[in-house]
Amino acid sequence: MGILEVKNINKRFGGLQALGDVNLSVKENSVHAIIGPNGAGKSTLLNCLVGKLMPDTGSVTFDGQSLLGRKPHEINQLGISRVFQTPEIFGDLTVMENVLIPCFAKRDGAFRLNALTSIAQEPDVRAKAEQMLIDVNMIDKRHMQGSSLSRGDKRRLEMAMCLAQDPRLLLLDEPTAGMARADTNNTIDLLKEIHEKRDITMAIIEHDMHVVFSLADRITVLAQGTPLVEDTPDNIKGHPKVKEAYLGE
Ligand code: ADP
Ligand code: MG
Repeated sequence: MGILEVKNINKRFGGLQALGDVNLSVKENSVHAIIGPNGAGKSTLLNCLVGKLMPDTGSVTFDGQSLLGRKPHEINQLGISRVFQTPEIFGDLTVMENVLIPCFAKRDGAFRLNALTSIAQEPDVRAKAEQMLIDVNMIDKRHMQGSSLSRGDKRRLEMAMCLAQDPRLLLLDEPTAGMARADTNNTIDLLKEIHEKRDITMAIIEHDMHVVFSLADRITVLAQGTPLVEDTPDNIKGHPKVKEAYLGE
């Protein structure tokens, strides 16, 4: 049994079958990549996992608990965090302030932007925020404004904000989309570090094969809404069906 189990998910948009009988099992502590050509249904699948879309049939369970019908914030509270294509940080706030917010929310159960000054005085919240920044190698940049960071550092900051929620599963939707090579490599290193330091399972949707093969230990190939193969990176590389569907060869 995986920590995340998807069974026979179907999702239609009008006449279009976006997902057809999708089964997926993500093992605890693995880095599981979901790849596939544009329109394969990757984002639809992810949206079904985080409460943004309701599949027409099938089940989704996390650590034995059904996720279907739960709101995104409830899914988040169960220990699932999602990272978007564009890093979601507060550009007007400093690096430290950005991390204080989820650290405080984790303790008190509510986001409060207007109470930042008092939150910053709480020793346990502050200590946790500092630790999160140390973990992603951003502590030296704690006074910088969010908007002034490089794309790679914004991603690092966003990851610190995610980690503050102590997730057990991270869902990443093309975390290096639109990044220059240096920022992409920076993000690969960051995700590797996080995975090595903490017991976090990662499910990652990614186009960039360099990223996929650098990080994943399992790969599922989606094509036209259905899993084509699931295997180790080495076996996926030379798989004839994958070449045909994904690389157009
Ligand atoms: P991917 O992320 O793999 O590129 P998507 O999951 O975004 O693929 O899309 C899968 C298919 O479903 C595509 O044909 C897309 O046009 C269609 N689709 C996605 N979302 C919607 C929607 N909200 N309404 C109608 N069609 C959609
Ligand atoms: Mg997509």
